[in-house]
Amino acid sequence: MPEQKRIRREKKTVGEMVRLYCRERHGSGGELCPECQELLAYAFKRLDHCKFGESKPACGKCKVHCYKPELRQKIIGVMRYAGPKMIYHHPLIAVRHLLDGMKSK
Ligand SMILES: [Zn+2]
Repeated sequence: MPEQKRIRREKKTVGEMVRLYCRERHGSGGELCPECQELLAYAFKRLDHCKFGESKPACGKCKVHCYKPELRQKIIGVMRYAGPKMIYHHPLIAVRHLLDGMKSK
């Protein structure tokens, strides 16, 4: 079974957000810093293991809190920072629902 569309889209979105965050906040050019590499690898792994697949809700709204607390805090920081910019830079990637879900916790 090919990788599910929904999961692939979330990976692309989270990848773009981490890259933008790392470039502007950590001053990395092109390459992600080790910390952000680890965070992104972790986020991808969580998505691969997500049991909801195609019917997956936005991660922030998900009932299963599959992130480790410290990485959860980091990804929330990335989304808060990069989310609004993503809408500007990549209007096709809608991240609002993701953001809203994360913030309401
Ligand atoms: Zn970084």
